[in-house]
Amino acid sequence: MAKILDGRTAAAQVRSEVASVVAGLRERGVPVRLDVILVGDDPASITYVASKERDSEEVGIESRVHRFSAGVSQKELSGLVGRLNEDTAVSGFFIQLPLPEELDSMPLISSITPAKDVDGLSPESAGRLAVGLPSLLPCTPHGVIQLLKRNGIDLSGREAVVVGRSNLVGKPLAQLLLRENATVTVCHSRTRGLPEVTRRADILVVAAGKREMIGAEHVGEGAVVVDVGIHRKEDGGLVGDVRFDEVDQRASWISPVPGGVGPMTRAMLLHNTVVAARMSLGS
Ligand code: NDP
Repeated sequence: MAKILDGRTAAAQVRSEVASVVAGLRERGVPVRLDVILVGDDPASITYVASKERDSEEVGIESRVHRFSAGVSQKELSGLVGRLNEDTAVSGFFIQLPLPEELDSMPLISSITPAKDVDGLSPESAGRLAVGLPSLLPCTPHGVIQLLKRNGIDLSGREAVVVGRSNLVGKPLAQLLLRENATVTVCHSRTRGLPEVTRRADILVVAAGKREMIGAEHVGEGAVVVDVGIHRKEDGGLVGDVRFDEVDQRASWISPVPGGVGPMTRAMLLHNTVVAARMSLGS
């Protein structure tokens, strides 16, 4: 049986580190505030935003939610992004995605100033990551790297295979793994012979968004397997992109769903908020 990459424990460490930085900044009179733009009444988005507010409160970060009905105009949102960029009381902010179909998220995300882009999803943040300039890192891929490092898993020189090439997870994760000196292969829906490719991995990260698609045949003996996928089961529970019970028999480490990458993603948003608050001081 594989050892568990326990995201709850690692996320608790991150939160406690963040809480002590927040306390220090507050002592120096530095505001630490995370703002969220929430549009429409998608229940999942409302739940995510509520949990991010709770997380913020727990570590002493002030949070504000800017709520809009689905009929809000692009111009109004764009105006708010401009104001939040300028507001020195706001350390960082993000737009809860997805936006209703009538709205175009990309121009809005692109206009977030990189120093406040706590989701790390703007093209400028992505470009800075790609060329090795300091930037706020996308929360899920950064959470994956932290989960590995905090469990003592060495990445340098190792074969890393990422399944998925989204802007949200796969691509930035590949950049981060490269930065850690892993040898990186990125797979996607047109990859031929996926099991042969993934079996080469020392570190296999799966972010395909396909329920339980990865089984024992995809995993080399002793590999480290990180499951980013999240799917709601019929009984209400959660399951990932990996068939846990099978892969558990072959892997040396495996991240569970729930309790793996999910808590890390949430913790890294808090981390980014304090990084942004510090950056506002030039430190
Ligand atoms: P996307 O749907 O944007 O991307 C999925 C990627 O997987 C695409 O690049 C796609 O290839 C690739 N893919 C799909 N099917 C296959 C296949 N059969 N073989 C190989 N590659 C395949 O998803 P996201 O990146 O946004 O999210 C991935 C998963 O992670 C989802 O389950 C999502 O819910 C979850 N997630 C979890 C988070 C967490 O905190 N734990 C945070 C964010 C996401 P192609 O490009 O060719 O279409």
